[in-house]
Amino acid sequence: MTHKIAFIGLGNMGGGMAANQAKAGQQVAAFDLSQAALDRAAAAGCTPVASVAEAVKDADVVITMLPAGPHVLKVYSEQIIGAAPSTALLLDCSTIDVDTARKVAGLARDAGYAFADAPVSGGTMAADAGTLAFMVGCDEPDFARIEAALEPMSRATFRAGDHGAGQAAKICNNMILGITMLGTCEAVALAEKLGLDPAKMFDIVAKSSGQSWSVTTYYPWPGPVPTAPSNRNYDGGFAAAMMLKDLKLAQGAAAKAGASTPLGAQTEALFQMFNGLGYGGRDFSGILQMLRGKLDELEKG
Ligand code: NAD
Repeated sequence: MTHKIAFIGLGNMGGGMAANQAKAGQQVAAFDLSQAALDRAAAAGCTPVASVAEAVKDADVVITMLPAGPHVLKVYSEQIIGAAPSTALLLDCSTIDVDTARKVAGLARDAGYAFADAPVSGGTMAADAGTLAFMVGCDEPDFARIEAALEPMSRATFRAGDHGAGQAAKICNNMILGITMLGTCEAVALAEKLGLDPAKMFDIVAKSSGQSWSVTTYYPWPGPVPTAPSNRNYDGGFAAAMMLKDLKLAQGAAAKAGASTPLGAQTEALFQMFNGLGYGGRDFSGILQMLRGKLDELEKG
């Protein structure tokens, strides 16, 4: 069945996700502040519109993919809630803090909407391929409808629990990701110093117990994984600034919950340094060049 989808936020992730909704035959009204993003969405079969209000006015489903909590709170409280039909399903796929997710869920519920926090895992390649994993926080009876709406973009959709639980699952997942990427980069830098070919090391580790997503999908040394950002000077992919944001969310949540996360804290400190040196726009696997002492080979941005 064709749905009218309003898609807000067409960046590295949202661009591919909106394209997959259009490819599945949905009518996608797409909005972003960036004209280049709107042009890409139009080329992918979406209908670019001039405002959030225009996108959501007759939507069955509203999907947002925005940078961080303040953007999500502002767009929902000022531009979506009240402007979309109250029958519309509201799905925020951005990665944000649990408290803001619960606040937006409360505002949506008070206005009569079904809402879910539905952050994703998988990166830009999975966004383009329609193979993301979704971690959903929602009221239980809404889940079947949410899963169906996410289907064109997803390989797996999990209900993590009530509102906020999707974001909790996501920040725990990304703390693992930050730690494993840093571990992978340290090992690659060490292997190089020990005279090992980092490409040969990939062949070995990918089939050994050091294997992880950071190795097999995003190997930080160019060559072994041709689609990894390391092959394009760490351009695109998952920006180090976004990883830092997620590590800060994890540390904030850990402090509130009284959880001990010393490796998460150390990983946050190292990504803070990498960002502070001017590399927040590079893919997060570019932190390898900091550990190798080769930042002069990495373009800032
Ligand atoms: P991005 O910066 O590429 O895209 C965000 C888009 O939102 C931009 O195009 C921006 O113009 C738009 N935007 C900002 N404010 C807006 C507003 N008020 N109205 C309309 N559009 C607005 O970021 P991204 O990499 O696509 O990430 C989006 C979210 O997904 C983040 O929360 C990130 O943490 C999460 N995420 C990213 C990845 C990844 O690999 N990039 C993976 C998983 C999750």
